Amino acid sequence: MTQTDETFETDEANETDKIVEAAEDGTDMDGGDAEATAPTLAEVVYQLERLYPLKYAEDWDHPGLIVGDPLARVRRIYLAVDPTLAIVREAAAWGADLLVTHHPLFFRSVHQVAGTGHRGAVTNELERRGIALWVGHTNADAAHRGVSEALADKLGVRHQRPIVPVSDPDSMWDGQVGLGRVGELEKPMSLRNFADVVNSVLPPTRRGIDVAGDLHMPVRRVAVLAGSGDSLFEQVRATDADVYVTSDLRHHPVLDARQQADEEAMLRKAGIEVREGVITSVGDPGDITTADSDAVAGDSDVTDSDARVFARPALINTPHYASEKVWMDYALHDIPAALEDAGNRHVELRLSPTDTDPFTLHLDSPTEPVMPRPLF
Ligand SMILES: [Zn+2]
Ligand SMILES: [Zn+2]
Repeated sequence: MTQTDETFETDEANETDKIVEAAEDGTDMDGGDAEATAPTLAEVVYQLERLYPLKYAEDWDHPGLIVGDPLARVRRIYLAVDPTLAIVREAAAWGADLLVTHHPLFFRSVHQVAGTGHRGAVTNELERRGIALWVGHTNADAAHRGVSEALADKLGVRHQRPIVPVSDPDSMWDGQVGLGRVGELEKPMSLRNFADVVNSVLPPTRRGIDVAGDLHMPVRRVAVLAGSGDSLFEQVRATDADVYVTSDLRHHPVLDARQQADEEAMLRKAGIEVREGVITSVGDPGDITTADSDAVAGDSDVTDSDARVFARPALINTPHYASEKVWMDYALHDIPAALEDAGNRHVELRLSPTDTDPFTLHLDSPTEPVMPRPLF
């Protein structure tokens, strides 16, 4: 059926009236009205990009609407971390009109979407099933109630601020959005106990988590970056965090960061503070309390001064998928709330139950490694 813009708008206005009337007398709005009152993809994308502004994205990243007709109606939105073919088929089986994922389908410029490559196959499947794709990647990482904030909240991190702020003077969240989050636990606890907290709140994977650091060290200040975070060690060190929770940590950056942490701890013990290779203060070594691991192991009477003699930040490596899936709980609440606020009450959301962490088996080494001797 074709309509002129004018009649289309008139129909829309009538439908809006019907919603208001029905809402007033409590009539069920399902059935024939749902088709007409469902928002367009353009309207949904507009709301998504108010929640997760594209201007927060990193320069190399190109999130937003990837596949879809802006005029198509959206009744069902399917949420997942990764836009794999299996996820697209799940979305289609449920009758989704829009798939919202955190990870992009395309990272680099694309010259073809033939089905010979898996990205082309996903694109073709989306087209064939009439499903749009919207990606909230680094824009969603940085946003208020975005990916890193969701993970920090889950770990009990309070008084959060971004590790690297993104300026947004037009937003009420200016100064509170950006890369990663850093803040404090309500009560300090040992690194060993904090590792248990991290492992227990993350969605399930085969691998679990890895920890680098003295398990007795007290943890109060926590830096968090959901997803790959080993490019941010310098900025994390500047926050004086006791531990940094992130994903995809690799041998060289981790070994370097741990050696730097040891070096700075040795200097602190001698009363010398160093930041980015520059001596920032020289004090009396007697000012610094010697670590008391027995007190730390008990958690409750950890003092801030104890933390100064430990090599920090300790590092906790989490499965990338798990650290970011935590955000889905927020998206599942915030997206329909934003659509409802905009008057779109006929949109259903569903979260994929499938975990897309690619690893299928984890084995501990059969023999214990020989750990290096403590330096101090
Ligand atoms: Zn990611
Ligand atoms: Zn991310």
